[in-house]
Amino acid sequence: MYYEIEIISIVSLTLLGLIVGSFSNVCIYRIPRNESIVFPASHCPKCRSKIQPFDNIPLLSFILLKGRCRNCKSKISIRYPMVEFLTGLTYLIIYLVYGLSIQTLVYIILSSALIIIAFIDLNQQIIPDVISLPGIIIGFILSFFVPYISFVDSILGIVVGGGIILVIGMGGSAIYKKEAMGGGDIKLAAMIGAFLGWRYIIISLFLGFFLGALAGIILIMSKIKKREDVIPFGPFIVLGSFITLFWGEKIILWYLGF
Ligand SMILES: [Zn+2]
Repeated sequence: MYYEIEIISIVSLTLLGLIVGSFSNVCIYRIPRNESIVFPASHCPKCRSKIQPFDNIPLLSFILLKGRCRNCKSKISIRYPMVEFLTGLTYLIIYLVYGLSIQTLVYIILSSALIIIAFIDLNQQIIPDVISLPGIIIGFILSFFVPYISFVDSILGIVVGGGIILVIGMGGSAIYKKEAMGGGDIKLAAMIGAFLGWRYIIISLFLGFFLGALAGIILIMSKIKKREDVIPFGPFIVLGSFITLFWGEKIILWYLGF
């Protein structure tokens, strides 16, 4: 009986992740363009033909259509199946870590928002306020109703998260004489802090800086990017927070030397 519930939960949450990922693709494309995320229905960005439901199945349709529009045969970005896959995988790991709990519910919503932010930042180098600002407020309000984070911890998370990026950004601007980190990064860190509290946001940002620096070095050494190119930091903050969400307790125990 227990196993059956477990298997049903794993399959349904992963499927839910794939479907939400499919919707996230719509948000990633439309939010920076200030378009409605509801109307009109999905269409090919090239030939504008409407995408039929059977061509809109997460992952599967991309494979069956060999990554091309059924109508005009133009290439569909690899980003579409990638976002679907990542969202499905994220839902699965969150379930495996937190089980059937209120935490799983909150974290799958948070992670979906973060995946959308990360890809918009990758594409357009902006972090939309329409997600991060309500995110800060929702994270804070939730802290009054959930058992795993107190509202004090949530406020500290907002202040510490936003504050760390603000201070480092000001330091970077003073050294490089140009904006090192944008206001979008500050609001993003504050939002994650509101949901995860001060300890987890510190770990998230530490991991984000580490991975961002590592990626920067690799991209510059392999000549994909030049020194003066802008590398968006948002995706690394998101990546850091995902690692923390999945393995935060283990990281803290390891750090404390247990
Ligand atoms: Zn087309």
